[in-house]
Amino acid sequence: MDRLHCEINRRPYVRLTSLEPEPKCTTVRYRDMEGIDEQASAMWKRHLERDDSKIVDLFTGQLRSSLHCSVCSHYSTCFDVFCDLSLPVPKRSATGGGSLRECLDLFTQEEKLDEENAPMCERCNRRTESTKRLTIQRFPQVIVMHLNRFAMSRYMVCRSTVCVSFPLTSLDMGPYGPVDCGPVLYDLYAVCNHSGTVNMGHYTACCLENDGSGWCCYNDSCVTPISENQLQSAQAYVLFYQRRK
Ligand SMILES: [Zn+2]
Repeated sequence: MDRLHCEINRRPYVRLTSLEPEPKCTTVRYRDMEGIDEQASAMWKRHLERDDSKIVDLFTGQLRSSLHCSVCSHYSTCFDVFCDLSLPVPKRSATGGGSLRECLDLFTQEEKLDEENAPMCERCNRRTESTKRLTIQRFPQVIVMHLNRFAMSRYMVCRSTVCVSFPLTSLDMGPYGPVDCGPVLYDLYAVCNHSGTVNMGHYTACCLENDGSGWCCYNDSCVTPISENQLQSAQAYVLFYQRRK
């Protein structure tokens, strides 16, 4: 996708000139919280000045990372572009499965950072206990969500086999967006599956045909129609959702 983007970038030459580096973070004081949307828009505009293509039109969104210092209550906010979200997969529950909603809740839940792991607080001028939270500031047309099944255990990388259920239609991403953004609905159109282990495996894809004939499974040279209830499996690895018009 990066390569494709580079080839069709509408601003291919900007990268060659030595512009000042794109700032990653902006600091927003608490009383300026209303200014956040404007800052996000400004950061987005800056991104488009260098990276602007059909790939960006379709797949790029903007994440907002809010950091709150627990000592002095200083807030800072960073904006980052993303082309996919890598979601943590919940540990196996009593029912043996999880849901995409749980993965998204884990991804956006407030995270406590202790002094060692927190960034510098600009006001305290040292590392302090902080909380961090990720939300989606700008929704892409196509949201690509990667179920991060690979986790480091003490000695090796493990692959989680928890079956994560996901809605085929009307996934509401609104709760993970800006406050009061209302429902933001997405419909599933493709799933990338991975079977096997960390070191070796096989990829297949399930895609919704746009001639209305339903879902097909693409397995190397073999294409077979499948039913909707075959989509949900422990092999589901990357989900492709299209925003509803
Ligand atoms: Zn502080």
